[in-house]
Amino acid sequence: MKIKEILKEQKVHISFEVFPPKTDANYSSVLDATRKIAALRPAFISVTYGAGGGTSKNTVSIASQIRDDFGVTSLAHLTCVSSTKEEVRQVIGQLKEKGIENILALRGDLPKDGEYPIPNHYRYACELIEDIKSQGDFCIGAACYPEGHVDAEHKKDDIRYLKHKVDCGVDFLTTQMFFDNSILYNFLYRIREQGITLPVLPGIMPVTNGKQMKRICALSGTALPERFRSIIDCFGDHPRAMQQAGIAYATDQIIDLIANGIRHIHIYSMNKPEVAEAIMTNLSAIIES
Ligand code: FAD
Repeated sequence: MKIKEILKEQKVHISFEVFPPKTDANYSSVLDATRKIAALRPAFISVTYGAGGGTSKNTVSIASQIRDDFGVTSLAHLTCVSSTKEEVRQVIGQLKEKGIENILALRGDLPKDGEYPIPNHYRYACELIEDIKSQGDFCIGAACYPEGHVDAEHKKDDIRYLKHKVDCGVDFLTTQMFFDNSILYNFLYRIREQGITLPVLPGIMPVTNGKQMKRICALSGTALPERFRSIIDCFGDHPRAMQQAGIAYATDQIIDLIANGIRHIHIYSMNKPEVAEAIMTNLSAIIES
């Protein structure tokens, strides 16, 4: 089913994300985790795409197993900056062949010390979106950044480019993680003002590894509110306690989003069915209300 159709339903939708294995040896353990996440009956499951495109076949294959074997709508991520246009078009062809209807179209991070832009490569996600549209009847998602993309010098430009990207044929947006909901509310106000009216799925990250998260936030420009920083400082060295606190913090964020009228929430479940399940249990009555 196309995600844009799912998002028209006036009820709370929770979706999850998995990442594909880097080696074939880990395929069955990733598939097993995905099966358990699918058993929670989310609105859809997204499958990330290796930055350099090296694991593309696993993204395609896991996305098709989610749909065909587990009966859940799947969303295949696709990045374009590190592959030739021909290579990317081949992957779009494979997705079409497998009957995958939903693609999250991304530029991907720029390769470190690499040449950019590269001849015969895409430069921005908007170019990929135009190409996907010309290749088939896909439902297309794209990324957005409530705190501004890390490469963008000015947030205003980031929103201007986002508007252009959306106008190229995007059906919905998913946000980068954030730990302070007021940042999201502010972002939504600013993009609506610029005429970006399509559904925006807030991306919520249940943090299970505090130290790693501090590094990732520093790299991606994601603010760590004082309240969350002290949770990491206190529980970061105790994995089970950190996981419990991370799930509680994510649940708190999600409840606030739902209470403020947001109906579609995407959870970065990172191949951890126990985390996805704990959040669904915490929300069981809330989702039905
Ligand atoms: P773009 O929309 O192309 O934007 C990139 C930068 O260029 C921004 O600073 C923007 O302001 C600027 N820009 C955009 N258009 C123009 C223009 N026309 N002219 C000038 N400047 C412009 N990475 C992976 O490798 N695999 C994944 O599976 C993956 N999944 C993700 C899922 C989500 C929900 C998010 C938020 C990110 C994901 N990423 C993933 C990371 C993403 O690839 C990086 O953040 C990347 O650096 C930007 O991708 P984009 O599609 O947002 O780029």
